[in-house]
Amino acid sequence: MQIVGSQCATCAKPLNFAPDGLACTTCEDVYHKACLADGVTCPGCGENLEAQSAKIEKQEREDMAERLRTGRAQFFLAVFLLGGLMLFNAIASLAAADLPDVMRLNPWTGLVISAGLLVALWLGHFVARVLVGLQIGFGILCQVGLLHRLHQDNGLATVVMNSWIMGVLLASFYFLCLSPTVSLYVESNRTHKRA
Ligand SMILES: [Zn+2]
Ligand SMILES: [Zn+2]
Repeated sequence: MQIVGSQCATCAKPLNFAPDGLACTTCEDVYHKACLADGVTCPGCGENLEAQSAKIEKQEREDMAERLRTGRAQFFLAVFLLGGLMLFNAIASLAAADLPDVMRLNPWTGLVISAGLLVALWLGHFVARVLVGLQIGFGILCQVGLLHRLHQDNGLATVVMNSWIMGVLLASFYFLCLSPTVSLYVESNRTHKRA
């Protein structure tokens, strides 16, 4: 609840400094501490407003910590999926040199570049996020082409069998580039490094 700019429900004067005021979320009113009889009790509902705001802050901190944990889990899941896929592709390219590259790059070079980009993304660099997004997006386009050819040559069953790569790419793209909790997580990594 916004304190600064609100009007004190007791004296009707505006609150200019947040530390001078207390808000009651039950009554949706804001008071000058100086206007409360004992400085903490809400005249509307009798709640201790300092305890109330401490509780709200604690709840907000816990919610934030929870979202950061989710973001971290999603980030590392995507890294695990994408890294696994690229490693699979690199190893498969050793076994069969004519296998089409997922990223149209030498798979080992691609793996090193991607690892660097993912570290930069993890540190909260926005450009790295865009580049990873482009890379995965390009991989998705290549897969669409590949699946289309497979469909024409070998029928739907082959497409279904080969579409797990597409699934991995789409999931990684969502988690690394679109997920708001991952944004929050990598953003918090950057601000912690600066602090
Ligand atoms: Zn007042
Ligand atoms: Zn109240």
